[in-house]
Amino acid sequence: MKQYLRYLPPVHELQKSASFTELLQKYNVSFERLTAILQEQLESIRAEILQQQLETNCNQINKEYLSNLIFVRVEAAVSQLSQYYLKTIINATGTIIHTNLGRARLGEKQIEHVVNVARNYSNLEYKISEGKRGSRHDIIEDLIRRVTGAEAAMVVNNNAAAVYLILRALAKDHEVIVSRGELIEIGGSFRISAIMAESGAKLIEVGTTNKTHLYDYEEAISEETAIVMKVHTSNFKVVGFTESVNSKQLIELANQHENVIFYEDLGSGALYDFRAHGIGNEPVVRDVLSQGAHIVSFSGDKLLGGPQAGIIAGKKELIAKLKKHQLARVLRVDKMTFAALEATLKSYLLGEHALKDIPTLRDILQTEEAIFTRAEKFQDKLTEATTSYTCALENDFSQIGGGTMPGEELPTYVASVSHISMTSDELATKLRLSTPSIITRQRDGKILLDFRTITDDELSLLVAGFQAINIESEK
Ligand SMILES: *Cc1c(COP(=O)(O)O)cnc(C)c1O
Repeated sequence: MKQYLRYLPPVHELQKSASFTELLQKYNVSFERLTAILQEQLESIRAEILQQQLETNCNQINKEYLSNLIFVRVEAAVSQLSQYYLKTIINATGTIIHTNLGRARLGEKQIEHVVNVARNYSNLEYKISEGKRGSRHDIIEDLIRRVTGAEAAMVVNNNAAAVYLILRALAKDHEVIVSRGELIEIGGSFRISAIMAESGAKLIEVGTTNKTHLYDYEEAISEETAIVMKVHTSNFKVVGFTESVNSKQLIELANQHENVIFYEDLGSGALYDFRAHGIGNEPVVRDVLSQGAHIVSFSGDKLLGGPQAGIIAGKKELIAKLKKHQLARVLRVDKMTFAALEATLKSYLLGEHALKDIPTLRDILQTEEAIFTRAEKFQDKLTEATTSYTCALENDFSQIGGGTMPGEELPTYVASVSHISMTSDELATKLRLSTPSIITRQRDGKILLDFRTITDDELSLLVAGFQAINIESEK
């Protein structure tokens, strides 16, 4: 095959061709960048020829053939350059806080505020009334205080960062007491024990996996104790012969000792009482603080329904210490996060009716009727568009997800769909690979679409996805 190398056009010749000019314009790529890609592709074709790996019929090979081949590959590489890795997905799984799919999605008000703040200069660290430098903590502190009742508050990058900062700043070289039943791992990468070791605080485990008593904590308290810590067991449930000590008892215990802080890692951090709707048993942040917790932390993008963030709330002198710590600067959040969080918290302050502006809350609190209506709309549209699918509506359950309220099942409606000739595996794969990508559940050889996490706006796209797959399968 070596003899074909002489048909490979030189770079300067390819640069002069019409295809090169076309690509320059079509993709708005620089001359230098396109040349570099061209050289890469040329090299790889040269290597394929030498290793006899070029997949082609040998008598086709001539200069024109190779030149075309190069430009086909160059275009593929350039078009990849202009595509984003992050793609939007239609989440038809019904799992609302889907960890793999980006947790909470933001609502229109939140997005609008983020876009405005990102597009323009803002008073991120500037006091407009005084014309002086301000602190980015001020933006959100007052809002958090009002929604949680805390004396003071601050925001860091995520709740893992909050846990780390609190342990490092308030318990380094001291002891932190945690129940063995609460030594959790989250998402495969966050372990209380590991983060504790990293922070320089010494973990004192008390009790057993299923039972920890107040006297276990009492016996463990010493001169060295800085924190009695409670960790919300967000992502699992221990059932059967269990006992744990509640926050109130631990607060009383901490208060009996000077310099012992009670800190609760709340995980999700519900600002809204879902229990009032019979959903879950998640403590509300305000309640934990009003019982006297010295400091708490929670995520911004779990039950709260905002951006990724870690919110720390509690006693003024403790928060002041955290704000002054060098790590606060390391873990600080961007203006876009502040904007999204500010808009989210405003909705909480406006009252119950405004919660529908927060997609996570809207979706958790959706009525079965609303979900059924949407499922029915989809069924009608799909049947109208193509006859290649069977689609039945069924009762089912959605999960909250994000390691929040494990085992909590929300009654929902799903469309159970099958294609006349494809298996459910094939269909699920094709849906996943369509644009936008559609992620479904599967059961008993059927695809399930849960309409709790699908909006009205997504219905047409969803139907178009099914239609496109069918047309392709008939080819
Ligand atoms: C989710 C969670 C974390 C980690 O929060 P991120 O915001 O994901 O960093 C820490 N602790 C608990 C109890 C959690 O549930």
